Amino acid sequence: MSVGPGRAAILAKVTSAASILAFSGVGRTFPDGTEALHGVDLAVDQGEFVTVVGPSGCGKSTLLRLASGLDTVTAGELHVGSNRVGYVFQDPTLLPWRTVRHNVELLAELEGLAKAERQARVAEVISLVGLDGFERHRPRALSGGMRMRVSLARSLVLEPDVFLFDEPFGALDEMTRERLNDELLSLFADRRFAALFITHSVSEAVFLSTRVVVMSPRPGRILGDVPVPFAYPRPPELRYSEEFAKVAGEVSDLLRDVPPRSSPGRPGREWTGREGSGRNSR
Ligand code: ADP
Repeated sequence: MSVGPGRAAILAKVTSAASILAFSGVGRTFPDGTEALHGVDLAVDQGEFVTVVGPSGCGKSTLLRLASGLDTVTAGELHVGSNRVGYVFQDPTLLPWRTVRHNVELLAELEGLAKAERQARVAEVISLVGLDGFERHRPRALSGGMRMRVSLARSLVLEPDVFLFDEPFGALDEMTRERLNDELLSLFADRRFAALFITHSVSEAVFLSTRVVVMSPRPGRILGDVPVPFAYPRPPELRYSEEFAKVAGEVSDLLRDVPPRSSPGRPGREWTGREGSGRNSR
């Protein structure tokens, strides 16, 4: 891969020794010619919680699929510094005939963990996600929020170094989502994995993250990122503070700077840059 002088500085950053996840000039073009991602430079260090926001179809899920190994890059390089990668989807994908305990145990079973070790870990993570007493319940007897807790626990069992979240709380009501945000942050404070999280909610992005990354419409590229200066643990009422609103406003501004897409049959409008200067943009 050739590296121009301007790009070298970015690459030096994204391949820093601490980065457990590093996308360097990553592109993904599907066999039908759809270019989902173009020139993505993004690094996530151990202990960082990075959230990606961007318009629908800009390649966010593709980014996660690449990081998880479910898909492969067609340009650039991707470094994943651990084989313990957890993946949580919007749909909890639980097996309806298995109890909570046996759903949580599933990935550990597939990994071939010894039974005693598996059971100890299952008991620990069920407690960690607040499902004590529900071990014998089947998924149909659980609320949406509880099912998502089971899904989280199932990944936690493998003690991931890198956690990928594809809009995990997008289908939940706001109160449940906020409660799960609080719980996820407690987990993060406890385990300090590297997280790459996708959401459509600016508020959720700011509340959870050490950094919020904004993507352009397809082909997705990084428009800019906003560091989130709040220490962990973060109290729920942080969401209503002036400082929080300021950071959320910065993310929203970057999102609004996203140039409109031209679609067939509708003349595309050239993005003049007058809509905003794209602060923090690379
Ligand atoms: P997002 O998660 O941001 O909504 P996706 O990563 O799911 O976006 O998709 C990015 C773009 O790539 C979309 O236009 C989608 O239709 C397209 N796409 C995703 N998977 C494939 C595929 N296997 N083949 C062709 N196009 C795809």
